[in-house]
Amino acid sequence: MTTSHYIAGRWVEGQGSDCISVNDPALGQPFAELMAASAAQVDQAVAAARSALPAWKATSASERAGYLRGFAEQLGQRREALISMQMRNNGKPRHEAEIDLDDAIATFNYYAELAAQLPSKNREVPLAAPGFTARTRLEPVGVVGLIVPWNFPLVTSAWKLAPALAAGCTVVLKPSEVTPLVEQAYGQIADALDLPAGVLNIVNGKAETGAALSNHTGLDKLSFTGSNSVGSQVMRSASAQCRPVTLELGGKSAIVVFEDCDVDQAVQWIVAGITWNAGQMCSATSRLLVQNGIADALLPRLQAALENLRVGNPLIEEVDMGPLTSQAQWLKVASYFATAREEGLQCLAGGKALDRDGWFVSPTLYADVPKDSRLWTEEIFGPVLCARRFATEEQAIAEANDSRFGLVATVCSADLARAERVADALEVGHVWINSVQAVFVETSWGGTKGSGIGRELGPWGLSAYQSVKHVTRCLG
Ligand code: NAD
Repeated sequence: MTTSHYIAGRWVEGQGSDCISVNDPALGQPFAELMAASAAQVDQAVAAARSALPAWKATSASERAGYLRGFAEQLGQRREALISMQMRNNGKPRHEAEIDLDDAIATFNYYAELAAQLPSKNREVPLAAPGFTARTRLEPVGVVGLIVPWNFPLVTSAWKLAPALAAGCTVVLKPSEVTPLVEQAYGQIADALDLPAGVLNIVNGKAETGAALSNHTGLDKLSFTGSNSVGSQVMRSASAQCRPVTLELGGKSAIVVFEDCDVDQAVQWIVAGITWNAGQMCSATSRLLVQNGIADALLPRLQAALENLRVGNPLIEEVDMGPLTSQAQWLKVASYFATAREEGLQCLAGGKALDRDGWFVSPTLYADVPKDSRLWTEEIFGPVLCARRFATEEQAIAEANDSRFGLVATVCSADLARAERVADALEVGHVWINSVQAVFVETSWGGTKGSGIGRELGPWGLSAYQSVKHVTRCLG
């Protein structure tokens, strides 16, 4: 049993009724347990954040920048432990776990720099009207709740924590019950840095704990990353209280491959876009649109590349893809394999769960999938790729945009003018040209349509935790 809640600068036992099992997905077995936080403990965490707010928002921007650099450094000092925990609890291959950690470190360093620049953003506003001066103040939104999923736990939390703390907000973080251990590092680091008690609080738990936080009347804002169904509940709570919310939700993103591409290079991009993190990415490019002239050459090579991937336990062998992270996700992906069989889809690779311990599935490719298939329209959140062919650029754009989601897209073409034109026409938050899943902290993250509200990363990630205030003075 692990002591796992960090409230008002102290580690405490959970007093909720749920016992959370923490699993090794490669074995399909638990390796730790913890008790969820109770609603009363969520109250305590919010109260601690509230009482820490006045002093924290009064710290200088450079002092907050110093703490953020400290977070980055301390993450680096815990490198091996954090990589191992992500491999064990998420099933991530080592190189993916390393990249996640580096991303979290880069995020804290980046927002340290933005925090240090904050005083220069509070400036006089030139007015056309005589007789007045006005100045801008960017103030912290206040006490924020942060609710995150399990697929990139260190990273998703860093994308929220770093800008929130940089802005001068105090926070209550609720990690996913599937991966509740790795983010404990953030509480341990707060201890190591002597971060004032209550500035960062962590409560663990399942839906009940998440709902206690998202319904809490003591928050000034909630930032949520997760599924659309929970996101809409979170939005309802926010709307009942007329409170701002950032939502990073699901995706069903397109990868568009034009016939002027090098086939082998395109295959690499397509494989990475659907098998990284075993396809458990909001940004998985799970709808392949391939131009007629290249489809017959590309699909067999794609099939071979997927079949040749090394799938296994990242803790004991070198693998390209690990297991799915939870049994629930494994059952969900298996249910889509059943739907594909019922719909009579043409399966070129995979299409089944692996016959071994743990929550493994094979990388999967369905070809010529009808537009109304559930596999074409719904987020599966696994290594399941659906392909369709297209003739013209206009058709590719129309099919890519024909989705209720709008998170990301990839465009592959040797004709860069065309690639840029298509990128501009896609209704998504981020487009990669001739690359996949390349996320840089200076650029934004977030989607259009059903993929959410608001943006993380870059200066937009900081603005999400700031309130704009103007002070206008009459000179007369
Ligand atoms: P989820 O919505 O089930 O859970 C997310 C978090 O919400 C967890 O911490 C969970 O405990 C909590 N929660 C559950 N019920 C709640 C409730 N009623 N009230 C408040 N909180 C509650 O999502 P998941 O299965 O953990 O993650 C997968 C989903 O996340 C996918 O849909 C994926 O696309 C999405 N996602 C989006 C992004 C993005 O940036 N757009 C990034 C990663 C994941």
